[in-house]
Amino acid sequence: MMAIPEETPDQTRVEQAVRTLLAWMGEDPQRKALRDTPGRVARALAELASGYGEDPAALLSAGLAEAPERQLVVVRDITFHSLCEHHLLPFFGWAAIAYLPDGRLAGLSKLARVVDAHARRLQVQERLTEEVATTLERGLRPRGLAVALTAEHLCMSMRGAARPGHRTVTVATRGELASDPASRESALRLMAASRP
Ligand SMILES: [Zn+2]
Repeated sequence: MMAIPEETPDQTRVEQAVRTLLAWMGEDPQRKALRDTPGRVARALAELASGYGEDPAALLSAGLAEAPERQLVVVRDITFHSLCEHHLLPFFGWAAIAYLPDGRLAGLSKLARVVDAHARRLQVQERLTEEVATTLERGLRPRGLAVALTAEHLCMSMRGAARPGHRTVTVATRGELASDPASRESALRLMAASRP
């Protein structure tokens, strides 16, 4: 799952690449205020891509509890930040997760960590939604599951069609929340009563 290239460039080469970008943008990479920028960019990108070093399934299984509850669980307003793989620009927003338990409950903080572990990589929103759903489906084995992401993409807000404030909503469903239209609709309604 994790794609570690055979030859990972060291930080010196990354900083050199950032200096190249700065010059290409019309800047002077030696300008005093920019001297530490390449190092900062490298460290920031490493943090934004830290999900490659995480195992979302292991994060989830560390927080599972056996429990008899079978009623719908909805956790929403889980903030996330990711990078679009087309432009390396952020997209960010809120995740909502709903599931019908079948003997297992997930720790609430673990759900957020699963979202982060998938989000801190290069992504497209649709695949991020599916990956979170698949990790939760395998670890929780619920009767039904739905994941909804609502996000603004800076590649759309700041460039091209330039539509600040737009929202993109993606949904992935499994089990009863995919096959039973009434259950699906009531879960999605609870999940959508989220941020404006
Ligand atoms: Zn993009």
